[in-house]
Amino acid sequence: MSFLETGLPSVAFQTLGCKLNQCETETIAAAFIKSGFAITDDPRDAWLFVVNTCSVTSKAEQKGRGTIRAALKQNPLCPVIVTGCYAEVDRAGLEALDAGNGEGRRLFVIPGTQKSRILDMPTMLAAEGMESRAALRDALARICRVIPGGSKRPSGESAAFRFDAATPVLRSRAFLKIQDGCNNSCTYCLVRIARGPAQALPEETVLERLCEAESAGAAEAVLTGVNIGQWSGAAGRGLAELIETLVSGTRELRIRLSSLEPDIFTEKFFAVLQNTRILPHFHISVQSGSVEILKRMGRFYEPEAVLDAIRRLREIKDDPFVACDMIVGFPGETERHFSETYNFCESAGFAQIHVFPFSRRRGTAAWDYKPRVPEREAEKRVNILKNYAVLSRKRYVEKWVGRETGGICMSLPVEAAATAGAVNVLTDNYIRVSARLPDDSNLFPQKGRRINCIISAPVNNDRVNDGTTSLIDAYGKILI
Ligand code: SF4
Repeated sequence: MSFLETGLPSVAFQTLGCKLNQCETETIAAAFIKSGFAITDDPRDAWLFVVNTCSVTSKAEQKGRGTIRAALKQNPLCPVIVTGCYAEVDRAGLEALDAGNGEGRRLFVIPGTQKSRILDMPTMLAAEGMESRAALRDALARICRVIPGGSKRPSGESAAFRFDAATPVLRSRAFLKIQDGCNNSCTYCLVRIARGPAQALPEETVLERLCEAESAGAAEAVLTGVNIGQWSGAAGRGLAELIETLVSGTRELRIRLSSLEPDIFTEKFFAVLQNTRILPHFHISVQSGSVEILKRMGRFYEPEAVLDAIRRLREIKDDPFVACDMIVGFPGETERHFSETYNFCESAGFAQIHVFPFSRRRGTAAWDYKPRVPEREAEKRVNILKNYAVLSRKRYVEKWVGRETGGICMSLPVEAAATAGAVNVLTDNYIRVSARLPDDSNLFPQKGRRINCIISAPVNNDRVNDGTTSLIDAYGKILI
């Protein structure tokens, strides 16, 4: 919504990367709304633009630079706050994007581990300078000089958990940050460097926030972190115990798990997953189907063990949506290794394969690894696996045609739904459905509401739906 429409200065957001970044942006947006700002989707309307960056691949960084440059160009009066993992690992490089525009500083880079500082800015900005864009920019420059850095609260508590998106403002589901950082040392990973060692939100606070989300009307909450399997509580309690607490401490809210490492699949974990409020959607960070490549990646499990875990998941849940991340073109990967990965994906029958070309990250062990896979060869392998991913997703969606499932009403506002006669639904098993309303009904479900639907036909998508696009997988009908 623009200043002309609301009379309020507006903030635009762009989030790159993972669900954790989305959760943190949600919290920042809520802080701005609370201090009297409006949220706009249009950067040209914005008085302030916030970019939450990602450093998982060089491509993600390239996208981040492109977003920042576009924001600086599209709206010359608008300051840009940049944060996230890229801001953590290359602050100076990002600050250099602001050089030489002659209008005073417009780019404010806040390293990822100090991202929580941004949560204090809305109240300070509202107090200091909202009468004009120039006033807001000057106030921001002053505030950035005075807000103390560091990743600790004055109480010594980690500031990482000031992010609480129990009541979503941008999205239709609650996001709960339960964990940050990682203690593993995968040889290609910059995330652990950008986010630091593993830390966990205390169990009672996680439950408190989930109850808050449920009381605020959320029908689903996504548990996020860098490696949620490394969530740890008192007396050796782990993610399985936490989920038990969350299920018994809430009434009917559904819980969706974000990305899981293969080492999480213990008997205890499988037992907890039996609860029907744990949604049948599991995204496993597998990375390769080759034992040798996994070892070079510093990942210590066997592909066969992952296949066993997937078999168990299919015993526990009715045809769950099982997805994975795969890195292709890792240094030393031969044709044989790639075939092992491809065959592994075939055996696993994934509903979604998130294919990443290997990306050399400075500061990681794999930066110096040889032999490198020639770019053309790596690209060829990426395309082969991506094409297979399209097929896998289609097959999974086709299996659900004619079947009923629960889900969340996503994005479409009522008006658009009224004209389209349909709403976008994200089903429990992670299928994106454009669901028509029953002919005799004019009851439009609200965003975030839980509904039941029947899947009637797949959409013929020939592009990879890696979950980051809003591609629709299927058509369906809402069951009232
Ligand atoms: S598990 Fe590995 S890839 Fe994932 S965040 Fe930790 S170090 Fe990085």
